[in-house]
Amino acid sequence: MYNILHEAGVHSDQPRQRLTLPPPKFVRQGRTIIWVNFHKTCQDMNREVDHFKKFIEKELMIKGSLNHDNSLIMKIRAQPSQFESLMYKYVKGYVQCGVCKEGNSTLTKDPTTRIWFISCNDCLTKRAIEPL
Ligand SMILES: [Zn+2]
Repeated sequence: MYNILHEAGVHSDQPRQRLTLPPPKFVRQGRTIIWVNFHKTCQDMNREVDHFKKFIEKELMIKGSLNHDNSLIMKIRAQPSQFESLMYKYVKGYVQCGVCKEGNSTLTKDPTTRIWFISCNDCLTKRAIEPL
């Protein structure tokens, strides 16, 4: 995060919109934790809840579930800070543009090659990513 902010200062002649995400909010119920602003986080990243959920599940090697308002329910012992770093790992891998570093992008799948791409909405760079 520090680097991104630092760059923004250097290129101050180019006002840019930075991706700011809400810190993950949790409710704990016994051994279950519920990521209550999971849906909002996905909306802010412009990603499907299922995609981000898959990423979290893969990283933590768990199976989560979504409730009626798309909060993520997980049976795991974890600290909120762990999810915050996962969130930024996801941003780096699946949201942020590799060229202009913006987080304003769209995830699409090429119907012919079946390759997933992140298309930057600011500098229009496209990069292929590994499917989850
Ligand atoms: Zn870009």
